[in-house]
Amino acid sequence: MALLSSVPIAAVPPDRFEPLIGPAAYRRLTERFARARDLLGGHAMWNINSTSRGGGVAEMLVSLLAYARGAGIDGRWEVIEGDEPFFRVTKRIHNQLHGEEGDGLPLDQAARERYESVTHAAGEELASRVAPGDIVLLHDPQTVGMIPALKRRGVPVVWRCHVGADGSNSLMSTARNFLRDYLRQADAYVFSREQYVWEDLDPGKTVLIAPSIDAFSPKNQELSGSQVAGILAAAGLQEAVAAGDPSFVRMDGSPGRVERHAEVDEWRRLRPDDTVVLQVSRWDRLKDPLGVIDGFVRYVLPRSTAHLVYAGPSVESVADDPEGKGVLEEASARFASLPSRDRERLHLATLPMADFEENAAIVNALQRRAQVVVQKSIAEGFGLTVAEAMWKRRPVVASRIGGIQDQIVDGRSGRLVRPRDPAGYGEAVRGLLDDPGYAASMGEEAYRRVRGGYLGTRSLLQYIALFERVLV
Ligand code: UDP
Repeated sequence: MALLSSVPIAAVPPDRFEPLIGPAAYRRLTERFARARDLLGGHAMWNINSTSRGGGVAEMLVSLLAYARGAGIDGRWEVIEGDEPFFRVTKRIHNQLHGEEGDGLPLDQAARERYESVTHAAGEELASRVAPGDIVLLHDPQTVGMIPALKRRGVPVVWRCHVGADGSNSLMSTARNFLRDYLRQADAYVFSREQYVWEDLDPGKTVLIAPSIDAFSPKNQELSGSQVAGILAAAGLQEAVAAGDPSFVRMDGSPGRVERHAEVDEWRRLRPDDTVVLQVSRWDRLKDPLGVIDGFVRYVLPRSTAHLVYAGPSVESVADDPEGKGVLEEASARFASLPSRDRERLHLATLPMADFEENAAIVNALQRRAQVVVQKSIAEGFGLTVAEAMWKRRPVVASRIGGIQDQIVDGRSGRLVRPRDPAGYGEAVRGLLDDPGYAASMGEEAYRRVRGGYLGTRSLLQYIALFERVLV
């Protein structure tokens, strides 16, 4: 049975970056792409991860690979199709790498056998398809067991680790020990920030590349007020007052429209003049959905007229996360347990995922619609949602953890709060709701910060520099 399935990638010419980054930087980008083409000499650059939609890794691969293909590089994307027991083990590794207990079960011999039964076979499958001269980028812990088979085939293998957490504990060490022997065979490691680098991996093979967003993707492209209203109305999230425009531009430049609304929940729709506080996240306890709801109900709701929207993907769609369904049920139960006058101002939305770009347009509209965006995570390798909201000039209240600390300068480009402090979170949100001038200037600064450091062009240049190290 095939364990890898190919994800189609659009080819998007990178020339749309020119007005954004200016002619000199654009010229440099095209020169670097030419260098990457020379280095690869027509060979493929394979990327393997565990889901084609939902979550930050898929989000970045869609864009970065589209520009690589648009620049003439044979970028490919395969998803590892494990079964549920496999993804239970990989979720356990994921949780423990963040220092969290997760399902509380051990990473023992049975877990290893389950992990290897999928990753070894996937490694063999890919090894039979790669050609000498190709390069393979494996993303996150789900793919690490593929390394030995690929190295036997003689291709360079890079491991891109998107996860990381502050500090260290015995769970983190256990998860790292679980993966370490496979990893030693890789040719390079990419981490999102210095603090996440594993101390005992060869520093000579390690590079840092912070994540980035694509300013032109359906997730981040400019939308007019009419488009925001039209998209949210078509999605069933907001009452339609006048004919809004539900259109957006797809990655390849073709027109798209938001048309589906069947999967959106049945909570009361927003009204156009409601003030909105938003968190967009996968259904994961590390995103602290109950903390977002409880903190809002306790500290924001009684002292403002704001509404909370908590939006995440429809759970059936995210195959690599077996915990998602349970977390959504917990959040729904918490909503349902609240008095109806509170529920009037709380909106829990599961967004349709069948069309990735349509989902992105809905998230884009929600982020633009919100007066304040929150990301109250307990652990976060980076926080694409934070960068996305900052790009849209939203003031963001986020936990002072992980990569979010690099993204936000507290009090200037957003607010950082302690992760398990609902009162502090509520106070920061209220401070922004109560002072629109302060919120607007913070939003401007947030936009500048993303523009200066977190756009995809920077990541593309860094990946090309990495290929120069690994391929020559
Ligand atoms: N996302 C989405 N739809 C959803 C929930 C999340 O498109 O219903 C996207 C979100 O906009 C962001 C990514 O998934 O681009 C999440 O990345 P982040 O780094 O914030 O967290 P991760 O999910 O990787 O832990």
